[in-house]
Amino acid sequence: MTRLVEVRSRILKENDVLARGLRDRFQQAGVCVISFVSSPGSGKTTFLEKLMFRLSPRHRIAALVGDLATENDAARLSRACTQVRQITTGTICHLDAKMIDKALEGWRLEDLDFLFIENVGNLVCPSGYDLGEQVRVVLLSATEGEDKPLKYPTIFNTADVALITKIDLAAAAEFDREAAHRSILSVRPGMKVLEVSAKTGEGMDETEALFESLLAPA
Ligand code: MG
Ligand code: ZN
Repeated sequence: MTRLVEVRSRILKENDVLARGLRDRFQQAGVCVISFVSSPGSGKTTFLEKLMFRLSPRHRIAALVGDLATENDAARLSRACTQVRQITTGTICHLDAKMIDKALEGWRLEDLDFLFIENVGNLVCPSGYDLGEQVRVVLLSATEGEDKPLKYPTIFNTADVALITKIDLAAAAEFDREAAHRSILSVRPGMKVLEVSAKTGEGMDETEALFESLLAPA
Protein backbone atom coordinates (compact mmCIF):
# COMPACT_ATOMS: atom_id res chain seq x y z
CA MET A 1 0.00 0.00 0.00
CA THR A 2 2.76 2.43 1.01
CA ARG A 3 4.76 1.52 -2.08
CA LEU A 4 1.83 2.20 -4.38
CA VAL A 5 1.40 5.64 -2.87
CA GLU A 6 5.11 6.34 -3.30
CA VAL A 7 5.08 5.28 -6.93
CA ARG A 8 2.03 7.45 -7.57
CA SER A 9 3.55 10.54 -6.01
CA ARG A 10 6.75 10.04 -8.00
CA ILE A 11 4.75 9.84 -11.23
CA LEU A 12 2.91 13.03 -10.34
CA LYS A 13 6.16 14.79 -9.53
CA GLU A 14 7.65 13.77 -12.89
CA ASN A 15 4.50 15.02 -14.56
CA ASP A 16 4.74 18.38 -12.81
CA VAL A 17 8.33 18.86 -13.98
CA LEU A 18 7.40 18.03 -17.58
CA ALA A 19 4.31 20.24 -17.42
CA ARG A 20 6.36 23.18 -16.22
CA GLY A 21 8.66 22.70 -19.20
CA LEU A 22 5.68 22.64 -21.54
CA ARG A 23 4.20 25.78 -19.97
CA ASP A 24 7.51 27.62 -20.52
CA ARG A 25 7.60 26.48 -24.16
CA PHE A 26 4.00 27.56 -24.75
CA GLN A 27 4.66 30.94 -23.23
CA GLN A 28 7.82 31.51 -25.24
CA ALA A 29 6.03 30.50 -28.44
CA GLY A 30 3.15 32.84 -27.61
CA VAL A 31 0.50 30.14 -27.96
CA CYS A 32 -2.54 30.16 -25.70
CA VAL A 33 -3.21 26.61 -24.50
CA ILE A 34 -6.66 25.74 -23.21
CA SER A 35 -7.65 22.28 -21.98
CA PHE A 36 -11.13 20.82 -21.59
CA VAL A 37 -12.23 18.22 -19.05
CA SER A 38 -15.62 16.67 -18.32
CA SER A 39 -17.45 13.38 -17.93
CA PRO A 40 -17.90 11.34 -21.10
CA GLY A 41 -20.78 12.74 -23.14
CA SER A 42 -20.80 16.30 -21.82
CA GLY A 43 -20.24 17.69 -25.28
CA LYS A 44 -16.54 18.55 -25.33
CA THR A 45 -15.97 17.59 -28.95
CA THR A 46 -19.14 19.23 -30.26
CA PHE A 47 -18.38 22.42 -28.37
CA LEU A 48 -14.77 22.46 -29.57
CA GLU A 49 -15.75 21.86 -33.18
CA LYS A 50 -18.16 24.81 -33.11
CA LEU A 51 -15.68 27.01 -31.29
CA MET A 52 -12.89 26.22 -33.76
CA PHE A 53 -15.13 26.95 -36.73
CA ARG A 54 -15.75 30.39 -35.25
CA LEU A 55 -12.12 31.13 -34.37
CA SER A 56 -10.37 29.66 -37.40
CA PRO A 57 -11.00 32.54 -39.85
CA ARG A 58 -9.09 34.90 -37.54
CA HIS A 59 -6.67 32.67 -35.65
CA ARG A 60 -4.20 29.83 -36.17
CA ILE A 61 -5.46 26.84 -34.25
CA ALA A 62 -4.39 23.30 -33.46
CA ALA A 63 -6.02 20.64 -31.31
CA LEU A 64 -5.06 17.49 -29.44
CA VAL A 65 -7.81 15.12 -28.42
CA GLY A 66 -7.54 12.23 -25.97
CA ASP A 67 -9.64 9.08 -25.89
CA LEU A 68 -9.01 5.51 -24.76
CA ALA A 69 -9.66 4.29 -28.30
CA THR A 70 -10.73 5.42 -31.82
CA GLU A 71 -9.73 8.42 -33.88
CA ASN A 72 -13.35 9.55 -34.24
CA ASP A 73 -13.02 12.83 -32.38
CA ALA A 74 -9.89 13.87 -34.27
CA ALA A 75 -11.72 13.13 -37.51
CA ARG A 76 -14.58 15.37 -36.38
CA LEU A 77 -12.35 18.19 -35.20
CA SER A 78 -10.33 18.12 -38.40
CA ARG A 79 -13.41 19.49 -40.18
CA ALA A 80 -12.86 22.72 -38.25
CA CYS A 81 -9.07 22.96 -38.31
CA THR A 82 -6.23 21.31 -40.19
CA GLN A 83 -3.82 20.60 -37.35
CA VAL A 84 -5.45 17.93 -35.20
CA ARG A 85 -3.93 14.91 -33.54
CA GLN A 86 -5.64 12.13 -31.65
CA ILE A 87 -3.96 10.72 -28.54
CA THR A 88 -5.22 7.21 -27.89
CA THR A 89 -4.40 6.23 -24.34
CA GLY A 90 -5.37 2.54 -24.37
CA THR A 91 -6.19 1.75 -20.77
CA ILE A 92 -5.15 5.09 -19.28
CA CYS A 93 -8.10 7.29 -18.30
CA HIS A 94 -6.40 10.70 -18.50
CA LEU A 95 -3.81 12.65 -20.49
CA ASP A 96 -0.44 13.47 -18.97
CA ALA A 97 2.31 15.93 -19.85
CA LYS A 98 4.46 13.27 -21.53
CA MET A 99 1.64 12.39 -23.95
CA ILE A 100 1.18 16.06 -24.82
CA ASP A 101 4.91 16.52 -25.36
CA LYS A 102 5.03 13.52 -27.70
CA ALA A 103 1.90 14.52 -29.62
CA LEU A 104 3.37 17.97 -30.34
CA GLU A 105 6.39 16.53 -32.19
CA GLY A 106 6.95 18.31 -35.48
CA TRP A 107 4.49 21.15 -34.83
CA ARG A 108 5.77 24.71 -34.83
CA LEU A 109 4.21 26.24 -31.74
CA GLU A 110 5.34 29.72 -32.82
CA ASP A 111 2.90 29.45 -35.73
CA LEU A 112 -0.12 28.95 -33.47
CA ASP A 113 -2.43 31.31 -31.59
CA PHE A 114 -4.47 28.63 -29.83
CA LEU A 115 -3.82 25.03 -28.92
CA PHE A 116 -6.87 23.23 -27.58
CA ILE A 117 -6.53 19.99 -25.63
CA GLU A 118 -9.56 17.77 -25.11
CA ASN A 119 -8.89 15.40 -22.22
CA VAL A 120 -10.27 11.87 -21.90
CA GLY A 121 -13.84 11.98 -20.57
CA ASN A 122 -13.28 11.52 -16.84
CA LEU A 123 -13.91 13.78 -13.85
CA VAL A 124 -11.49 12.06 -11.51
CA CYS A 125 -7.79 11.69 -12.30
CA PRO A 126 -7.33 14.42 -14.98
CA SER A 127 -7.44 16.81 -12.02
CA GLY A 128 -4.06 15.52 -10.82
CA TYR A 129 -2.20 15.95 -14.11
CA ASP A 130 -0.97 19.37 -15.11
CA LEU A 131 -0.66 19.52 -18.91
CA GLY A 132 1.11 22.88 -18.99
CA GLU A 133 -2.11 24.55 -20.12
CA GLN A 134 -2.76 28.23 -19.45
CA VAL A 135 -6.44 27.70 -18.73
CA ARG A 136 -8.39 24.60 -17.78
CA VAL A 137 -12.07 24.53 -18.63
CA VAL A 138 -14.46 22.07 -16.99
CA LEU A 139 -17.73 21.23 -18.71
CA LEU A 140 -20.97 20.18 -17.02
CA SER A 141 -23.93 19.48 -19.28
CA ALA A 142 -27.58 20.25 -18.60
CA THR A 143 -28.29 16.52 -18.88
CA GLU A 144 -26.14 15.75 -15.83
CA GLY A 145 -26.88 16.28 -12.15
CA GLU A 146 -26.64 19.83 -10.83
CA ASP A 147 -24.71 18.45 -7.85
CA LYS A 148 -21.87 16.95 -9.89
CA PRO A 149 -19.44 19.69 -8.76
CA LEU A 150 -20.18 18.67 -5.16
CA LYS A 151 -19.45 15.03 -5.97
CA TYR A 152 -16.26 15.76 -7.93
CA PRO A 153 -14.91 18.90 -6.24
CA THR A 154 -11.25 18.40 -7.14
CA ILE A 155 -11.70 18.73 -10.87
CA PHE A 156 -13.77 21.92 -10.42
CA ASN A 157 -11.15 23.22 -8.04
CA THR A 158 -8.31 22.74 -10.50
CA ALA A 159 -10.23 24.40 -13.36
CA ASP A 160 -10.36 28.11 -14.16
CA VAL A 161 -13.63 28.32 -16.10
CA ALA A 162 -16.82 26.22 -15.99
CA LEU A 163 -19.09 25.81 -18.99
CA ILE A 164 -22.62 24.54 -18.57
CA THR A 165 -23.17 22.88 -21.95
CA LYS A 166 -26.31 21.72 -23.82
CA ILE A 167 -28.19 24.58 -22.17
CA ASP A 168 -30.84 24.23 -24.90
CA LEU A 169 -31.84 20.96 -23.20
CA ALA A 170 -32.17 22.48 -19.72
CA ALA A 171 -35.97 22.72 -19.71
CA ALA A 172 -36.51 19.26 -21.18
CA ALA A 173 -34.07 17.73 -18.67
CA GLU A 174 -35.61 19.75 -15.81
CA PHE A 175 -32.13 21.04 -15.13
CA ASP A 176 -32.02 23.54 -12.27
CA ARG A 177 -29.65 26.21 -13.57
CA GLU A 178 -29.52 28.15 -10.33
CA ALA A 179 -28.65 25.00 -8.38
CA ALA A 180 -25.87 24.16 -10.85
CA HIS A 181 -24.35 27.63 -10.48
CA ARG A 182 -24.64 27.33 -6.70
CA SER A 183 -22.85 23.94 -6.70
CA ILE A 184 -20.02 25.21 -8.87
CA LEU A 185 -19.53 28.36 -6.83
CA SER A 186 -19.66 26.54 -3.51
CA VAL A 187 -16.79 24.33 -4.65
CA ARG A 188 -14.84 27.10 -6.37
CA PRO A 189 -15.95 30.55 -5.21
CA GLY A 190 -15.59 33.27 -7.82
CA MET A 191 -15.21 30.87 -10.73
CA LYS A 192 -16.21 32.17 -14.14
CA VAL A 193 -19.29 30.21 -15.27
CA LEU A 194 -20.83 30.42 -18.73
CA GLU A 195 -23.92 28.71 -20.14
CA VAL A 196 -23.54 27.53 -23.72
CA SER A 197 -25.27 25.58 -26.43
CA ALA A 198 -23.15 24.43 -29.34
CA LYS A 199 -26.43 23.61 -31.09
CA THR A 200 -28.24 26.96 -30.87
CA GLY A 201 -25.12 29.11 -30.46
CA GLU A 202 -26.30 30.53 -27.14
CA GLY A 203 -23.34 31.78 -25.08
CA MET A 204 -20.85 31.12 -27.87
CA ASP A 205 -20.08 34.82 -28.52
CA GLU A 206 -19.25 35.32 -24.87
CA THR A 207 -17.09 32.19 -24.70
CA GLU A 208 -15.23 33.14 -27.85
CA ALA A 209 -14.60 36.63 -26.47
CA LEU A 210 -13.35 35.19 -23.17
CA PHE A 211 -10.82 32.97 -24.95
CA GLU A 212 -9.72 35.75 -27.29
CA SER A 213 -9.09 37.98 -24.29
CA LEU A 214 -6.44 35.45 -23.17
CA LEU A 215 -4.32 35.95 -26.29
CA ALA A 216 -1.14 37.89 -25.79
CA PRO A 217 -1.32 41.26 -27.54
CA ALA A 218 0.29 40.97 -31.00
MG1 MG B 1 -14.74 13.82 -27.27
ZN1 ZN C 1 -6.70 8.34 -15.14
